Amino acid sequence: MRSGTRKSSDSFPQIETVNCAMCAGSSRFGNGQCPSCDGKGLLTVAAPSATCPHCNGTGKPIKKDLRSDMSAELSQVCPICLGTGWSLVLW
Ligand SMILES: [Zn+2]
Ligand SMILES: [Zn+2]
Repeated sequence: MRSGTRKSSDSFPQIETVNCAMCAGSSRFGNGQCPSCDGKGLLTVAAPSATCPHCNGTGKPIKKDLRSDMSAELSQVCPICLGTGWSLVLW
């Protein structure tokens, strides 16, 4: 048997480290630590990395013509990516 020819990387999950969209990698949000990345500033996502299609990677919900009766402050975070701005975040 030959050894050394086997590709071990094929079955291994590919990951990338990206900046958190909510805090732009600063790990801080408002007066406290960023809730989206848990204060790390970085996120691990499945490669190839892809931005959240819902918020276009901004981490913020798309504003639609909803009535502004609802408290906007409670929905400042994209519900799909939870403010990270990325799809397939590996928590
Ligand atoms: Zn963050
Ligand atoms: Zn999103």
